[in-house]
Amino acid sequence: MAVFPEKPKEMKGIEWGLLYNRFKGAELDPDSLKRQIKALLIDDEVISKKGVYTYVLTGEEKYLSLRAFTTAQKREAYDRQGGICSDCQAAGKAKVHYDFDEMDADHITPWSRGGRTVPENCKMRCRECNRRKSDI
Ligand SMILES: [Zn+2]
Repeated sequence: MAVFPEKPKEMKGIEWGLLYNRFKGAELDPDSLKRQIKALLIDDEVISKKGVYTYVLTGEEKYLSLRAFTTAQKREAYDRQGGICSDCQAAGKAKVHYDFDEMDADHITPWSRGGRTVPENCKMRCRECNRRKSDI
């Protein structure tokens, strides 16, 4: 594809056929793509460097395998919150306290808005609230 003048090693093994069929004829700005790719390749939060190329074309974050919180970070957030799911609390539910393994970690500020995988950006929600949130 001519939009990627340089072919870094990360591009090997990408399903170019599929991407090409999907995006041929689309108006792609090579300079803008190159800038985005460069930034993503040095972004510590992006685990799948191979996924960067698919991401810039599809906009789907799943290809980046974004960094997840470690158990220690989750535990810290859990202790800080005292095991309370603030979403349940805000909704006025009877049950607001959960065990550690009944909760999931979430980024308070998402990666797409500059949020990093650091303790200050970690929030624990009960499974149900976390699922509902990711459905939006
Ligand atoms: Zn909840």
